[in-house]
Amino acid sequence: MHYDVIIIGSGVAGLSAAIYLARANLNTLVLGDQKTSQLTSAFEIENYLGFPDRVTGRELLRSGTKQAKQAGASMIQTNATKIIQKKDKLEVFFSGGLSHTSDYIIIACGMLSSIDFANSLNLKTEDKLIKVNCDNQTSHEKVYAAGNCCTRTRQIAKDVGDGCHAAINIIKRIKNSPNYTDYGSLEDQK
Ligand SMILES: Cc1cc2nc3c(=O)[nH]c(=O)nc-3n(C[C@H](O)[C@H](O)[C@H](O)COP(=O)(O)OP(=O)(O)OC[C@H]3O[C@@H](n4cnc5c(N)ncnc54)[C@H](O)[C@@H]3O)c2cc1C
Repeated sequence: MHYDVIIIGSGVAGLSAAIYLARANLNTLVLGDQKTSQLTSAFEIENYLGFPDRVTGRELLRSGTKQAKQAGASMIQTNATKIIQKKDKLEVFFSGGLSHTSDYIIIACGMLSSIDFANSLNLKTEDKLIKVNCDNQTSHEKVYAAGNCCTRTRQIAKDVGDGCHAAINIIKRIKNSPNYTDYGSLEDQK
């Protein structure tokens, strides 16, 4: 199947991106086995805005997954094994040799496998992180990155923000709407 965007990784960065993309009516697939998200071992998160009484990583993943699905994102609980460029499309392989294609990809799979994907797509890296510009775009114009695979801040707030930023910048390009916001374009608000 062909998607507008495939997100590699279903942690906070990937889920955040999925919510924005799906709300913009883009055909969005999230791939990733959440059992290996760093969040599963974060038991008492005290510093994430809006949770003065703490929240667990598992709770955040559970509610974030529900929110992404409600917005319309498709999710497959399996890890990607390979990404290749196929003419003007990107093809993502996962378990059983199955694959889907997309116009854009967001890599949001933490540090573990992100460098392998970066190497296979010839992306620029620095100190084992994927290099991104201020739009969270990698050195490949159709590939973005978000969260721990491209930042050393390693905080949920930054990862969620990265996912949002990558998604909004892709939406702006696909919809050719430089002033796009999730709550209506700035033109609409005049
Ligand atoms: C013990 C601990 C406590 C922490 N406490 C806090 C805290 O209190 N506050 C705070 O702000 N931050 C905390 N953090 C950091 C926070 O958990 C991370 O910054 C955050 O989870 C990173 O989000 P991410 O989406 O980039 O990566 P992750 O949450 O790690 O998610 C990456 C996802 O990608 C998936 N994936 C991996 N490989 C592939 C593949 N090949 N294909 C598809 N998917 C793949 C993984 O399964 C996972 O679901 C803590 C981390 C740890 C380890």
